[in-house]
Amino acid sequence: MPRSVYGSRPVPRSAESAKILILIGLVLQAIEVGVLVVVGLLLFLVPFFGIVVGILIAFGVVWIVLVYLFSYRRVVEGDYTGARGPTLVFGILSLLTLNLISGILYLVGYAELGTAEQEMGRSIPAPPGYPATWSPAAPLAASAPSPQGPVRYCPRCGRPNAAGSRFCPSCGAPQP
Ligand SMILES: [Zn+2]
Repeated sequence: MPRSVYGSRPVPRSAESAKILILIGLVLQAIEVGVLVVVGLLLFLVPFFGIVVGILIAFGVVWIVLVYLFSYRRVVEGDYTGARGPTLVFGILSLLTLNLISGILYLVGYAELGTAEQEMGRSIPAPPGYPATWSPAAPLAASAPSPQGPVRYCPRCGRPNAAGSRFCPSCGAPQP
């Protein structure tokens, strides 16, 4: 599982779908650039069309890099909030430039990122006595290999609490 800004908490399913949607959109557009390269090579002997296709290829490559850096990689890193805005912009720009399939994929990815953001909540400050790099799942990995172990996590705030406690000591939510 990749490390994210949320520490080692599990990646929500919505973030996984966003990642796959953006990746497919990205691959489709990379294929388009590849086709342009082939066309460009075929038109190499025709000066004007060669230049036009060359410019399109340059834009295409810059575009692929931008989508990768600001959308796909941020999702992989768990920065769902940071990935949302760029993914929306990429979706709208793709639709405007008639990249309909990639555009729709990015927009659905954008919606999934909204869900992922809600599922993860705001980044959780470390409780007193925990290091600043605290993450809710860290004690689980360190102490209890089984999910039935002594430490459980509040479904609302994600903070650890003792198994069997009826209410979360941090936020007061009833525990399952
Ligand atoms: Zn709680």
